[in-house]
Amino acid sequence: MVKSTIKAGRGEKIILEPRRKFDYTSDSNIFYDMIVVGAGVAGFSAAMYAGRLGLKVLVIGELQGGTITLTKSVENFPGFISIEGGELGRLIENHAKDYNIDILERRVNRIEIHRKEERRHFSVFSSEKKFLSKTLLIATGTKVRKLGVPGEKKFENKGVSYCALCDGPLFKGKVIGVVGGGDSAVKEALLLAEYGKKVYIICRGDAVRSEKQNRQELNKKEKGGIIEVITNTNVIEIKGTDVIKSVIFDKEYKGNREFELEGLFVYVGHIPLNQFAKDLGVKLDQKGEIIINKNSETNINGIYAAGDVTNSDWKQAIIGVAEGVKAAYYAYQYVNGSIFILPLQGKKNIVTKLNEVEKNV
Ligand SMILES: Cc1cc2nc3c(=O)[nH]c(=O)nc-3n(C[C@H](O)[C@H](O)[C@H](O)COP(=O)(O)OP(=O)(O)OC[C@H]3O[C@@H](n4cnc5c(N)ncnc54)[C@H](O)[C@@H]3O)c2cc1C
Repeated sequence: MVKSTIKAGRGEKIILEPRRKFDYTSDSNIFYDMIVVGAGVAGFSAAMYAGRLGLKVLVIGELQGGTITLTKSVENFPGFISIEGGELGRLIENHAKDYNIDILERRVNRIEIHRKEERRHFSVFSSEKKFLSKTLLIATGTKVRKLGVPGEKKFENKGVSYCALCDGPLFKGKVIGVVGGGDSAVKEALLLAEYGKKVYIICRGDAVRSEKQNRQELNKKEKGGIIEVITNTNVIEIKGTDVIKSVIFDKEYKGNREFELEGLFVYVGHIPLNQFAKDLGVKLDQKGEIIINKNSETNINGIYAAGDVTNSDWKQAIIGVAEGVKAAYYAYQYVNGSIFILPLQGKKNIVTKLNEVEKNV
């Protein structure tokens, strides 16, 4: 049994057990009840509940703990006044492991759906192996949206970064730009202000939009002159030699369109990792996010989705956790036959059901 000592106060340390590795070479003949694709907070929370409910679960994911591990401090996850993102990810993972689930730290390449009468099952392919399951949870999260401007690719890892936690310490005493106007941009700018001589937040709107708490911190840093917000401005080019030297704005700032920077962090949103959903015929919205109902069900029986890859409004850890938990409960009922299984050709019915739920939300 995995044990962790937890203290939920600000700055207090959490002791975690090392990961138990899945024996990749052994048993691929197991017919899982649930395969979770994605090892972030949504995936592991689903796995924890599904494991508790006695389902045979496999989690396959690349980045263990997921996106939350890439941010330094999380101050809005209930139960923790302040916790490092990496620790939160590991705690949720450890909790899931307490229920004897299998975890595989690999990339999933392909998923197939097989139909037998009205029941279906899934084959999940990772490298050379195939894993079978009665249900599937897609919790693949997102990838960072890039600026898409000249120079961005050239200076990636040469001044351009998408992770303040990973790369912030490389910019000690430097002038740093943060592109973006959302809460993530503000939160990461606050972290970068601990390293940089000066941090400029460059946002295209009239003002940054962030949680009150982060806004208050930003106000303090603005007053102290450590952070400055440049509004109504877009970065349209990144310039340099070996490393980044400046960016070009779409309009003048303090009489100049070229602006000298030694680092640039980009927080302009995320793109849902929806390829498996697309391939399987799962319904997506206009943003490419997986449409789920309040039970975390998609339009296809046996396929659930949770977390940042779904069409839920708030991309926050606790939302993904809750969606993962609901997916586990409904997968349990599905596996145990206590949910009415719509016939194969019943996509129309399924969609109707989904619409009804959407209307009620
Ligand atoms: C800078 C920043 C700061 C943030 N701060 C906060 C905060 O303070 N509080 C908060 O609540 N939220 C915060 N968030 C949001 C939070 O990180 C996300 O809402 C949450 O991590 C989403 O979890 P998820 O499980 O849905 O997806 P992710 O955590 O993104 O996990 C997706 C998983 O899927 C895996 N995966 C994807 N494709 C494949 C594949 N083909 N094969 C195998 N595995 C695959 C990934 O490797 C990963 O394991 C922040 C986000 C960012 C970017």
